[in-house]
Amino acid sequence: MSELELGKYSIGVGDRFAHQAKAQLQACIEAARAGVEVIPVWNKSNREHNIIGSEPSQTRVAADAAVKALGWKKPYFRDADHINLTTVDRFLASCDFYTIDVADAIGKPASSSAIEKFVRQRAGLAGTLCLEGVGEAIEITPELLRATAGKFLFAVEEAGKVYRKIEAAKGKGNFIAEVSMDETDAAQTPAELLIILAAIADEGIPVQTIAPKFTGRFNKGVGYVGNVAQFRREMALDVAAIAWAVSNFGLPKNLKLSIHSGSDKFSIYPAIYETTKKSGVHLKTAGTTWLEEIIGLAEAGGDGLALAKEIYAEAYAHREELCAPYASVIDIDPAKLPAPATVAIWTSDQFTSALRHDPHSPAYNSSLRQLLHVGFKVAAKMGDRYLRLLEANEKVIAKNVTENLYDRHIAPVFLGKPSPVAQLEHAEAK
Ligand SMILES: [Zn+2]
Repeated sequence: MSELELGKYSIGVGDRFAHQAKAQLQACIEAARAGVEVIPVWNKSNREHNIIGSEPSQTRVAADAAVKALGWKKPYFRDADHINLTTVDRFLASCDFYTIDVADAIGKPASSSAIEKFVRQRAGLAGTLCLEGVGEAIEITPELLRATAGKFLFAVEEAGKVYRKIEAAKGKGNFIAEVSMDETDAAQTPAELLIILAAIADEGIPVQTIAPKFTGRFNKGVGYVGNVAQFRREMALDVAAIAWAVSNFGLPKNLKLSIHSGSDKFSIYPAIYETTKKSGVHLKTAGTTWLEEIIGLAEAGGDGLALAKEIYAEAYAHREELCAPYASVIDIDPAKLPAPATVAIWTSDQFTSALRHDPHSPAYNSSLRQLLHVGFKVAAKMGDRYLRLLEANEKVIAKNVTENLYDRHIAPVFLGKPSPVAQLEHAEAK
């Protein structure tokens, strides 16, 4: 049996209420029509399942049904997103892609004998590495090698334990392994990434995607906050470091970067497109589909708009509780949140233009968008009342879900079409 392999370009899509898999897959079908293969990966974290009260099997059923309905013949995957040793079990039956999250283990020291062994075996990494395709070398001193082992070796050992647990349950080659270190404070440098990859190779993890923490802020569902030029430079070095690691450490040939919270980062999409043309990339989005559901409901008017307003009012009332688990990945200015009484008299158009991420629009409100992004618990509590309206308004919602994924994400990241922000900058320059 051949081993599962992730294609060059892939997109992680989240589907909180398991109702939009078809609309999401439609965006990949449009990508194929435009000439690029983008493999869909349905991701859902343990945290998300817990908040909603769903099970990984539901994500699997929804993905399988969409693939069948639309006649998708290429691969697709179901990602157990951000799992660890204690949370992986419930995902073993339903998933074939595992995002092994070891960010919490960063900084905890491995045993001194393990560190000594690593530093001895990888002593050859010290020096100046000239990487292909970038005009800059990576410098690794013996001190950096040791310090990086001290900071990351234990985390990689943890990843190895999780990987072996999954392998024991599913069999080698029957799943894709990703290692993620993005949910932490400090970005990893390209040199650190290279050393981490050496440790991952030593640990025997056939990693196909790696998610480092990048420079800048990747808030949920809104634009990138940071220095775009610096991001571009680091990303190019990361890509070159991965290519070097693949040929020198015997890691899988298709190993590529995974960009978490990758939705809506319009200003860095040109850099991502240009630096990953050869290597490929996995762009993980999540939560934006849920926002398109709200946009679709608001656009539908009537009961849909009323429910969208009710969800906003509830989210507004429970702001602190909803934001707490996501504090490090949102930036809401409470002063910019309209009072529910104001929103209550909005038209469909007023609601959708405040929520829709259109940087051209003066009505766009990123604080309102982020609050609703984390407000899915409110809809989850509504249960069937919410789901029935989703079903009644399927057409208008599906259109928004597909357009958002294709026009705002797939086209700029995988096809190099100008992203909305690039267009905006262009328009301002005129
Ligand atoms: Zn992540």
